[in-house]
Amino acid sequence: MARGIIPRQPAKTGRHEGNRHVTPGRTAGVGGAAKSRRASSALPKIKSSTSKGTKAAKAGKKDNPLAPERVNAILSGLDQAYPDVTCALTHKTAWQLLVATILSAQSTDANVNRVTPVLFQKYPTVQDFAALSPEQLEPDIRSTGFFRNKSKSVVGAAKKLVEEFGGEVPEDMDKLLTLPGVARKTANVVLGSWFGKGVGVVVDTHVTRLSRRLELTNHTDPRKIELDLMKIIPPERWILFSHQLIWHGRKLCVARSPKCVDCPLEKLCHAADKTWSTVEIHKNAKP
Ligand code: SF4
Repeated sequence: MARGIIPRQPAKTGRHEGNRHVTPGRTAGVGGAAKSRRASSALPKIKSSTSKGTKAAKAGKKDNPLAPERVNAILSGLDQAYPDVTCALTHKTAWQLLVATILSAQSTDANVNRVTPVLFQKYPTVQDFAALSPEQLEPDIRSTGFFRNKSKSVVGAAKKLVEEFGGEVPEDMDKLLTLPGVARKTANVVLGSWFGKGVGVVVDTHVTRLSRRLELTNHTDPRKIELDLMKIIPPERWILFSHQLIWHGRKLCVARSPKCVDCPLEKLCHAADKTWSTVEIHKNAKP
């Protein structure tokens, strides 16, 4: 073995034993361009889907990332990897889920789950929250970040629910969107995870990143991403699909250095920032 070339750790899945191709000019792992060239020259040239893809490209055929068979393959891969995932935010009522989702913005679910049990013990009902001023709530949610805005949203939502909705969280997108601090992401979480109503796709930071890497959208605006996903994902899959992408984004398809070697979608993914690839890279497929 040439000096300076460090063998990649084998994948637990055994995926490393299949076809292995490093796209010329790209690194199959962390390292610079020089390392990539050395690694590429050290690897055997294997006929793989890459060479097929190149031939197809030369013949003028273009991959369609939104082809139903590809979308179905992505859904199947997610089903196998994450068959029954649900919302990771701890909650016992629709109101608690609404609050937890508001608090989860720019925070982690684990962090929110540390805060909310104490919070809901201190203020058990939506009426308790409605009786607060935002300043009174701030110390209790400080650790979730952006606590001033979140306090205003939570207290404002509680007041509106008490004054206009009889203290109940409505099962309706338009009504939910009238609550302070509630946009489509939060409304979709509550409708999908509590009421079982899939009226849209939850688009958070994970769904945004993965949808772009997987070329299911090229937008960055959450509403446009949601509309793109709603066109290609069957409506009955919207709730589960959101959860699956979020779990995949936390577990493997993380923002920096995604764990592509262990990813069940690897052969379907052409993301430009992959850390491992057996298929052609698409330079525009990036977060
Ligand atoms: S192959 Fe890598 S970039 Fe693509 S979905 Fe899997 S983890 Fe994400």
